[in-house]
Amino acid sequence: MTELDKTKRALSPRTNLVHAGTWRSQHGEMSEALFLTQGFVYDTAAAAEARFLGEDEGFIYARYGNPTVRMFEERMMALEGAEDAFATASGMAAVNAALFSQLKAGDHVVAAKALFGSCLYILETLLPRFGVEVTLVEGTDPDAWRAALRPTTRVAFLESPSNPTLELIDIAEVAEIVHSVGARLVIDNVFATPMFQRPLELGADVVLYSATKHIDGQGRCLGGIVLGSEEFIRKELEGYMRHTGGAMSPFNAWVMLKGLETLDLRCRAQAETAAFLADRLAAHPRVTRVLYPGRADHPQHELAKRQMSSGGTMVAFEIEGGQEAAYRVQDALEIIKISNNLGDAKSIITHPSTTTHQRLSEEQRQALGISRGLIRLSCGLEAPEDLAADLDQALRRN
Ligand SMILES: *Cc1c(COP(=O)(O)O)cnc(C)c1O
Repeated sequence: MTELDKTKRALSPRTNLVHAGTWRSQHGEMSEALFLTQGFVYDTAAAAEARFLGEDEGFIYARYGNPTVRMFEERMMALEGAEDAFATASGMAAVNAALFSQLKAGDHVVAAKALFGSCLYILETLLPRFGVEVTLVEGTDPDAWRAALRPTTRVAFLESPSNPTLELIDIAEVAEIVHSVGARLVIDNVFATPMFQRPLELGADVVLYSATKHIDGQGRCLGGIVLGSEEFIRKELEGYMRHTGGAMSPFNAWVMLKGLETLDLRCRAQAETAAFLADRLAAHPRVTRVLYPGRADHPQHELAKRQMSSGGTMVAFEIEGGQEAAYRVQDALEIIKISNNLGDAKSIITHPSTTTHQRLSEEQRQALGISRGLIRLSCGLEAPEDLAADLDQALRRN
C-alpha cells in the first residue's frame, strides 16, 4: 500500500510524478530508497515456501521484482492509468518482452513500417524465425491495416510520432480496426512521451517505453517498461520476464524515479523549445522542409491536435545539399551535440540516414522519407535563443 492509495483521489500527473508509488521503510526516508539487493531473507523455511507458492506477496529475487523497481513501476502505472507494469533493462527488452511473451508459431503480427531500427529487426528477422508471420504496413493508411488483418492476427504494433520523420498514426482508429479481429494494439510511446500522449485512453492495450530517453532524460541509464492490464502483465509478460532475465536494475529504477519527478517540467520546456526552433528553422532560407507535429503545416496537424497535447520535443528538418551539407551543419554546431540518443537535457542532433537508419536500403529509406539531407533534432533544456543562434551560425556555413 503506497501513501497516495489512501487518498483514493484522482491526482494530476505532476503530483503523481513526485509521489506515486513511494514506499517508505521503517526509517521514514524522504527520498525513494535504493534497495540494491538481489535477494530477500525469509524468517523461516515455511515462509520461503509460502512466498514461492504466491501465498505471501513479498519479493523473491530481483529478476522477478525489487522494491525500488516496483516503486518505478507503480509511479508509471499512476501516470499512464495502467493496471500493472513490468520494468525492463532497456527499451528493447520491453519491446522484446511485449511481443515474444504473447506470440507463438502460427500467429500473425501487423506493424507500421516506420519503426525504430531495432524494433524492425525483431519484427522482420527474429519473429519470423520462430514461425510468427509479420506484415508491415503504411501506418498512416487505415485501409492498409484493415487489409493486413487475418484471423490469426494477435498483435498490432506501432510508434507515433515515428522516428525520425515524425509521422503520426491515428491510435484510436487503428485500435478499433485491430480489435475487430480480437488482436491487441501495442504502442511504443517514446517519441510522444507519457506527458503528451495517452495510448491506453486512446484504446491501445499495451504501452511501452524506452525509459532511457525522456524518463531518465539526463543521459545516465538504460531502462524500459511495459504497461497494460493486470491480466496481460501477470499472466503473459511476467513469466517471460522472470525466466528470460531482462529485469531493470534497482539502481537504474532509482535513477528513473528521480527522473520522473521532473519529467513534466522537462518535457514542457523541451517542447516549447522544439516549437520555437521549428518556426525558426521553417523561416530559414537553407531549410527546405520542417517536420514538427505542433506546426500547422505538418501533414497530420489535425490528428496531432486530437491525439497529443503538444507537438513534442523532437523536430526533423531537411536542408539543401544532401549529406555533405548535413555533415557541415552538424560539425559546425557548438552547443548542440552529435549523438543518437534523444529526450536528453542536452540538445542532440542526428543524421538518420548514416546512423540510426544506416542498416536500411536506399529504397527503404526513400519510402520512409529519410533523405540524405534529413536531420533530427532532440531539443534539450538549454536557453532556446542560444540553440537558435547555434543553428543559425551552423546553417550560415552551409
Ligand atoms: C530508443 C528507442 C527504443 C529502444 O530503447 P533502448 O532503451 O535504447 O533499448 C525503442 N523505441 C524507440 C522509439 C526508441 O526511441
